[in-house]
Amino acid sequence: MIAEFASQREKVKYFRALSPEQKINAFTEMVEEAEHIVFLGGAGVSTESGIPDFRSKDGLYNKKDKRFSKYKPEYLLSYDCLNKHPEVFFDYFRKNLDCREVLPNDAHRKLAEMERCGKLDGVITQNIDGLHQKAGSKKVSEIHGSALRSYCVSCRREYDENFIFENTEEVPHCPDCGKIVRPDVTLYGEFLPQRAYEEAVALIRYADLLIIGGTSLEVGSAASLAHMYHGKYLVIINKGKTKMEGKADLVFHDSIGKVLNTLIYVTQRSGNRD
Ligand SMILES: [Zn+2]
Repeated sequence: MIAEFASQREKVKYFRALSPEQKINAFTEMVEEAEHIVFLGGAGVSTESGIPDFRSKDGLYNKKDKRFSKYKPEYLLSYDCLNKHPEVFFDYFRKNLDCREVLPNDAHRKLAEMERCGKLDGVITQNIDGLHQKAGSKKVSEIHGSALRSYCVSCRREYDENFIFENTEEVPHCPDCGKIVRPDVTLYGEFLPQRAYEEAVALIRYADLLIIGGTSLEVGSAASLAHMYHGKYLVIINKGKTKMEGKADLVFHDSIGKVLNTLIYVTQRSGNRD
């Protein structure tokens, strides 16, 4: 059991003084103690699967591509672009957001395993690649939707992951009603999908350990969800800086899969020792 602290300041001071090994042990104890663990993740969860994030040096927004250079990257993934330049939108989407063949990494696998063991209530993700489900996670709130689903803007018929990518039309149309079939992802200028967002809020409100991974919390939706968290422990795992580090009990500037793997190894070892 982790000691009780008289104040948040005292708690932060205690955790900041820990060695790397003590930090892992403290994280393990939190995982053992917590009853409702939730993972909130961003692009950094998928970069190890080879999916570029948006804003880093090798990210999608810094990719030079003549066909798209006259547009801002945010515009290419916006509701405006889908409506005003649908041929540009679908060209960009097909070239940059086809994640059908991408495989989950250690982070996805460990989170799925934690859920199977009853140690994780759910995953909230900003990613649209479906990798948590591919790894076996069942409870996943995709707050930005999924590139593996699409639907007709008029009759709402749903289409599978191949429909947009294998369609020979420049702009894919619904065989039933002839209107555009679009990806089920949240574009710039759109609201978050209500059901996924409500699920995410419920997970956050109930959690007593929130693990935030692979996001700098610069983007609004993840940041606002993180601020709704008032549970006992907050752990951040991210290679770069994250905005809420001052509020976190533990911060790991490392690979998410690596940290989670160590955690489970230590958990099993301490289990055997008992
Ligand atoms: Zn239709």
